[in-house]
Amino acid sequence: MTKSLLDVALRSEDDKESPTDYPEGDRSTSLPGDLVSVSHGFDGFECLVPGRSLMAAHLRRWKLWRERKVVIAYVLAVDIAAVALAAGMIAAIPVRSGDLFRFGLLLAGAAVHREAVRRIESLRERATSNGLLTDLTSLWIFAAALSVPLPLVFAVAVVVYLHSWYRGGSGRLYRKLFSGATTVLASTAAVAVLQLLQPAGYPIIPHGPPGLAVLIGAGVVYWLVNYALVVGAVRISDPLQPARQVPPDSGEQVVVAASLGLGAALALMLTWEPWLTPVLMITVFALHRALLLPHFQQAARTDSKTGLLTVGFWREAAGRELERARRLADPLGVLMLDLDHFKSFNDRMGHLVGDQLLRAVADELRCQTRPYDLVGRFGGEEFVILLPGVGTAQVEHIADRIRECIRRLRVLVDGPLDRPVTVDGISVSIGAAVRPNDGDEIDQLLLAADGALMAAKAAGRDRVRLATPAPL
Ligand code: GH3
Ligand code: MG
Ligand code: MG
Repeated sequence: MTKSLLDVALRSEDDKESPTDYPEGDRSTSLPGDLVSVSHGFDGFECLVPGRSLMAAHLRRWKLWRERKVVIAYVLAVDIAAVALAAGMIAAIPVRSGDLFRFGLLLAGAAVHREAVRRIESLRERATSNGLLTDLTSLWIFAAALSVPLPLVFAVAVVVYLHSWYRGGSGRLYRKLFSGATTVLASTAAVAVLQLLQPAGYPIIPHGPPGLAVLIGAGVVYWLVNYALVVGAVRISDPLQPARQVPPDSGEQVVVAASLGLGAALALMLTWEPWLTPVLMITVFALHRALLLPHFQQAARTDSKTGLLTVGFWREAAGRELERARRLADPLGVLMLDLDHFKSFNDRMGHLVGDQLLRAVADELRCQTRPYDLVGRFGGEEFVILLPGVGTAQVEHIADRIRECIRRLRVLVDGPLDRPVTVDGISVSIGAAVRPNDGDEIDQLLLAADGALMAAKAAGRDRVRLATPAPL
């Protein structure tokens, strides 16, 4: 007998399921790549400043302690190395009163900058799926490395990260400390390179072509140390992450390069004409706004509920694929999918739980298709898939495999009284159309697939129907 969402099995799963079976990851344990944003990310914190008595309890609640031992050891090793190095440098390097003016300007600029971009940063953080977020923090640290002695560079780093922790709204202190630690190590390495030019002198303003080489060298060393430490954290905390995902995203690295370049320009201004520094701030704010652009582009392409393509972007991309298929005389398949009796599931479990189911089905569709297939959310509980190179011979088989996989899905959703409940036996009806038999335009193919979907529903649901080719 065919099952549908009407007779879906719902069971309380208090002790049957491991928490890791949760469709979007267990909420009580770390998500993969949890540490990824440690270096460049804007983190914030879970609560307002905890009182001293709360501090110890807070420390015990750090999510870090739930990581594997090797991750804890790595994070603590970096933190301790940074503290030891900072202590040594503070003891060894004198700070003159003349340095304090530039230090004060740097602090004031960093505070104004961080406050002004707080909203932008939280938007970016929410929009970033892989957790790797690069911001312009390095601008202040690198400017400090060029213009004030190392103890004051560390003070700038501490102030910047504590500020983002305190004002962030949600996040973790241990991440901030790790970010601060990577910055301390990176800036010390950069200053070591800079001192090739001007041992023991501050500000270290480079002159002539050799100066340029040293400046670039210091920037590269700063970037390398910071990046290596972050990548180390990513790889250790998520060893299953393929190596190819860790190398730098070029867009993000342009942001780092821009921060280092602006940091150098800021140091020059602070040294020679400090009162002109606000002019540079205009560029910094404009650049920061521009950082949102990739996230807006991504948001326009992606359906926020399921992470699939939006209809608009799907159509655009499908148009390009169709053009290619026509040029190469290749076949192309289109599937329209509609969950069966979804309304009654919503009525019984609530729309928020319905959303969890939609997300799980969307994830399954992505898993069951090739990287270059286009999977979109067409509307409510309707999905559309474009299958380049797939003709009449394979389309039914592919659609039926997808239908079977969805039926075999077991989705853990929030049940009544916050108890997890497993949903299975999810049934879906699918209509399929292929180019060129059913049409040579996207709209024709969608119409044909939709007609086939209606036929699948009419025939009893939980099945695949092929479009009937238009008569010649
Ligand atoms: P059928 O088998 O004929 O497709 O029945 P159905 O109940 O799935 O179809 P119908 O089109 O009547 O209802 C679709 C339902 O999908 C209506 C609405 O409650 C639900 N829906 C649409 N969008 C969303 C959404 O974003 N989230 C949730 N949870 N439900 C949605
Ligand atoms: Mg529908
Ligand atoms: Mg439906």
